Amino acid sequence: AEEMMVRSEKMSVAGQLAAGVAHEIRNPLTSLKGFLQLLQAGVNGKEEYYQIMVEEIEKIESITSELLFISKPLTDNRKLESLKSMIHDVTVLLSPQAKLKDITIELKVEEHIQINCDRSQIKQVLINLLKNAIEAMEAPGTINITVEDDYETVEISIKDEGPGIPEHILHKLGEPFFTTKQTGTGLGIMITKQILASHQAELDIRQNEKKGSTFQIIFHK
Ligand code: ADP
Ligand code: MG
Repeated sequence: AEEMMVRSEKMSVAGQLAAGVAHEIRNPLTSLKGFLQLLQAGVNGKEEYYQIMVEEIEKIESITSELLFISKPLTDNRKLESLKSMIHDVTVLLSPQAKLKDITIELKVEEHIQINCDRSQIKQVLINLLKNAIEAMEAPGTINITVEDDYETVEISIKDEGPGIPEHILHKLGEPFFTTKQTGTGLGIMITKQILASHQAELDIRQNEKKGSTFQIIFHK
């Protein structure tokens, strides 16, 4: 019975996703239609309407581009990749966003560590987690990325100084479209978990003792 339950839960993810897509795209569409009708009727306040309309279109854009990523066939380009090089690429990519908020990204990664993975997929995972860490932080501070190479595992930790994750929403992280952000898509952690599962890797989410949270990726050798 337990096995069946797991299966039906897994299948419902597709249904959940479809319902979510329809819902998430209908809302901005409804709003766009309303503003277009207002403009058609010749009301004042055009400038403000255009701004909102652009934001609604951007919302649809980001949802569709994340969905395209999910539906991409999982090509298997796995080989031994340098972790340092992947993490370096990702921090370069997101450093402008970090700089804007006065956030320092500190890396502690040894040169030689390699994992067997699809480079672009694991980079996507690192982007999703690092982006969340940056978005979580209000004030200037530091994000620490560390890598531990043990006998049986390689663990990457991304530690932020944000508000942390309230206990009552912890289990919702990774549900399609679960977001607490005004402009979030709620797809990042779902995609992350999906990619990690295909690499037999895990995601561990912890509250920090002092401040913020730590997202840890665990690869098995
Ligand atoms: P999105 O970033 O579009 O909201 P995600 O799937 O990436 O979607 O994240 C889902 C939710 O998990 C976020 O809206 C936020 O509430 C929470 N979350 C993720 N990462 C962090 C973090 N580092 N600190 C605090 N909350 C986080
Ligand atoms: Mg995100």
